[in-house]
Amino acid sequence: MPINNLTIKLPKNEIPRVWYNVLPDLPEPLPPYLTPGNVPVEPQALAAIFPPALIEQELSTKRHFDIPEPVVEALSRWRPTPLTRAVGLEKALGVRSMIFYKNESVSPSGSHKSNTAMAQAHFNKIAGIRRLATETGAGQWGTALAIAGQYFNLDVRVFMVRVSLQQKPYRKTIMNLMGAEVLSSPSTVTNAGREAIKNDPDTLGTLGLAISEAVEEAASRSDTNYSLGSVLNHVLLHQTVIGQEIKKQLDIAGVKPDYLIACHGGGSNFGGMAVPFVPDVLSGQKINLIAAEPESCPSLSKGKYGHDHGDVAGLTPLLPMYSLGKDFQPPAIHAGGLRYHGASPIVSSLVKSGIVVPETVGAYELFQYAKIFSRTEFVIPAPESAHALAVTCRKALELEKEANPGVLVFVLSGHGLLDLSAYEDYLSEQPEKE
Ligand SMILES: *Cc1c(COP(=O)(O)O)cnc(C)c1O
Repeated sequence: MPINNLTIKLPKNEIPRVWYNVLPDLPEPLPPYLTPGNVPVEPQALAAIFPPALIEQELSTKRHFDIPEPVVEALSRWRPTPLTRAVGLEKALGVRSMIFYKNESVSPSGSHKSNTAMAQAHFNKIAGIRRLATETGAGQWGTALAIAGQYFNLDVRVFMVRVSLQQKPYRKTIMNLMGAEVLSSPSTVTNAGREAIKNDPDTLGTLGLAISEAVEEAASRSDTNYSLGSVLNHVLLHQTVIGQEIKKQLDIAGVKPDYLIACHGGGSNFGGMAVPFVPDVLSGQKINLIAAEPESCPSLSKGKYGHDHGDVAGLTPLLPMYSLGKDFQPPAIHAGGLRYHGASPIVSSLVKSGIVVPETVGAYELFQYAKIFSRTEFVIPAPESAHALAVTCRKALELEKEANPGVLVFVLSGHGLLDLSAYEDYLSEQPEKE
């Protein structure tokens, strides 16, 4: 089947009706979450900050969960998302391989984060919760939860990492417009925040610290729960709509993927893409699952596997994951959404068992490819997504040495229209010769 300049759209009624839970299919069972005393965390201990449905999804080894009708309705505002063959990019690179991108930037928040935000808001609403507290790095998660809060009628308070707020002030404007309250983290409303300011008044803030603040607030108020935009199993579960749709779309295109690539910050867009293909890999299909991460924050590539806290203050359980250490201070790189010391336990387990391979990308390389992509596909990728794009381009170029080129798919996890200052920095450092 000749496919040229093809955007594969699924009809509305093809929206996934179940989430796929990879836990029963992992080659090694996921080690339990631990308390600081190294005792497995009891499900009740999570009830202070999460509703019962999300706790079940976090720990269950049930293979499928039905997506509740109100969530299907919310997702169908923008899903299924298109899978597009990047013919302009292929041509610019001069490769014979087919490159597709799954465009998650078409969601209301401009990123894949809306997939889990809607689900989490729904399950909190039906549990009688009135308010959600959360953290945000680059602002995409806060934006997604602000919109979901508005949709399901919940108040939202967002702790936004100070350096990101300085770099992207308009993200706060969007969240405010969507009805959420935004505080710069570290803030003075929590113990964790006050402690951090006391230790270093000039701190840039980190995602880990902002998590501490949001968890502290949720644990101390009965009307408030905590919402996390990445890392945890239930978040990856909600993101599996991405991979399920890619499967159907590649079937329609009549091709099988050789490479599936997504960027990895906490692992949710990567996991959402990759885990629906894990059963295929385990049954012998040759698919390279590659997690693209920044050179400056290489949790999967350089981190140590073991139990570590998800936050700086040590309020979260110890999670079995690759981690650079909870006190790791990532430099203020522009891909704010990838500045996280840890990694998803599920993705960590898949890396450990060799099913997923991590690769790092430097800032210069990713902006170079982001420029080519912008000029050939006319979509400006989020710098986070450009990590996946860069690895995809690298692989496509490598495949030119082979007799048979391949089929590469990457997730465009979000657009870069609120990251223009990062692009401005890049362009001003790279004056064009022509
Ligand atoms: C948050 C974010 C990421 C990183 O988070 P993951 O959980 O690793 O997916 C990547 N891309 C975009 C656009 C984001 O908003």
